Amino acid sequence: MKLIRFGEPGAEKPGVIINENYFDVSALVSDYNEDFFGGDGLEKLKKDIESADLPQVDQGVRLGPALARPSKIVCVGLNYKDHAAETNAAIPPEPILFFKATSAIVGPNDDLVIPKNSKKTDWEVELAIVIGKKASYVSEEDALNHIAGYALHNDYSEREFQIERNGQWVKGKSCDTFAPIGPFIATPDEIEDVHNLRLWLTVNGKTLQDGNTSNFIFNVPFIVSYISQFMTLLPGDVISTGTPAGVGLGQKPEPWYLKAGDVVELGIDGLGTSKQEVKAYSGQ
Ligand code: ZN
Repeated sequence: MKLIRFGEPGAEKPGVIINENYFDVSALVSDYNEDFFGGDGLEKLKKDIESADLPQVDQGVRLGPALARPSKIVCVGLNYKDHAAETNAAIPPEPILFFKATSAIVGPNDDLVIPKNSKKTDWEVELAIVIGKKASYVSEEDALNHIAGYALHNDYSEREFQIERNGQWVKGKSCDTFAPIGPFIATPDEIEDVHNLRLWLTVNGKTLQDGNTSNFIFNVPFIVSYISQFMTLLPGDVISTGTPAGVGLGQKPEPWYLKAGDVVELGIDGLGTSKQEVKAYSGQ
């Protein structure tokens, strides 16, 4: 199944994609939230849509983030060897974890707003894991049983806030619009091999990232099991699994970053594509 949420920001309804078409399932499901992912929501929906007469939704509709705001976004830093090398970082002996504020979540094709006082807004195409059943101290063998699905995520990062402003990376990861998630969540049965997915990103049509999840340092079951040793992963929580080489910080001869007017497009095999137009901050 492919889950979408559609409609105006803050008023999105749940939907599904069937044969490329969008359908409204709000008569069957209230939202893709903790209750939905933690209970039998996915199995029930799968059964219910077979017999339901679902209203079709126009493809021009705005897509919202593919899930309701979760309790947390946990990100893995430096999970591809080539990205660790480009940022002059050592291969980590254990996963580096950091948080990203859930208020950063937006729809897959919403604008990216450069934060106030930002000079170094950067991109990171990533595979996101969506947690199904609650995960606490799960083994690697059991980890896949706690995954509801996968989605495309752009882990936007302000490098000055992240690296030069002291303390934890969270400051450079949490700005509004820094977490476009979607277009959809694909349930695991839709993905043949999560460890062999091409992921790519372009800025203004130029390919900058072109990696593959086969180059993970830490794989999906390991990551879920590992994080669950330190915190309980609740249904609907998002784990972003790290980015391959080709971010702005790694550009040669000089790093460069996003500016208003740029267009960022990204995609992962089986998980669709997204597109963000870059806007200047216009608040006070
Ligand atoms: Zn990242």
